[in-house]
Amino acid sequence: MNRKEFLKLASILPLSNMPSNLSILHKISDQLESTERMPVLFLGHGSPMNAIEDNEFVQGFKSIAKKISKPKAILCISAHWETKGTFVTAMKNPKTIHDFGGFPQALYNVQYPAQGSPQLAVETKSYVKKTNIGLDYNWGLDHGAWSVLIHLFPKAEIPVIQLSLDYTKDAKYHYDLAKELKSLRDKGILIVGSGNMIHNLGMVAWDKLNSSGYGYDWCLEARSSMNKNILSDNHIDLINYKLKGKAYQLSIPTPEHYLPLLYTLALKDSTDKISLFNDKAIAGSLTMTSVFIA
Ligand code: ZN
Repeated sequence: MNRKEFLKLASILPLSNMPSNLSILHKISDQLESTERMPVLFLGHGSPMNAIEDNEFVQGFKSIAKKISKPKAILCISAHWETKGTFVTAMKNPKTIHDFGGFPQALYNVQYPAQGSPQLAVETKSYVKKTNIGLDYNWGLDHGAWSVLIHLFPKAEIPVIQLSLDYTKDAKYHYDLAKELKSLRDKGILIVGSGNMIHNLGMVAWDKLNSSGYGYDWCLEARSSMNKNILSDNHIDLINYKLKGKAYQLSIPTPEHYLPLLYTLALKDSTDKISLFNDKAIAGSLTMTSVFIA
């Protein structure tokens, strides 16, 4: 029974029956709408090739999926959807977007046919007071979403919607907006931030693309500091990353791959436990470090 059906039923019940029937209906409604609190994830997605490769990071995604009970739907905040204003995808069948160039055909052949959830899109919009979220019917699922979800939920049987990043806003704005999404965790919604905490493509060590664990000094320094701040709930320093010196500046030359982390952290409750996985540098100037909150 959805809300509309519930209201319809409530409206046709004889008045004399209202108290008892309503309390029963409330119980049914509660059961349908509330669930055990869902975890929250930040996934370092790295190269789109991770979608079709099997490596230690893919194994990490698969392992974490085993710790998560089946969500009703997924809300993904991907580094690869930046807009002026905030939007949420509201189509029934989001297309798989191959938003990259120069990769093998096999990667372009990948489809992730998860359904959308217009209902969740509207509900998400209703929770956020900070801005008027727009409903989007043109985007779909970009590789920030599908290249990792394909390992967590390979059957694509869970509906997925995406929330865009407003490129005109600062880190604190994104963190505060994310806090308004918290009650979705109690409704069976898995919220996933997808980016890379450290992401400097201009400085990639192309000769060390496949050497896992290789990071420049500044990359390792920032990674260590970020991890410490994440594990000690020092969100202020992570929000104020622009003031944290050279290593952070080199690690976050543009904010889009970093901001999804702030969405994930903003959704943490004081009773949640937090852990890291896939915590490795790659190619000198990137990290795959991912976060599990539950
Ligand atoms: Zn990316």
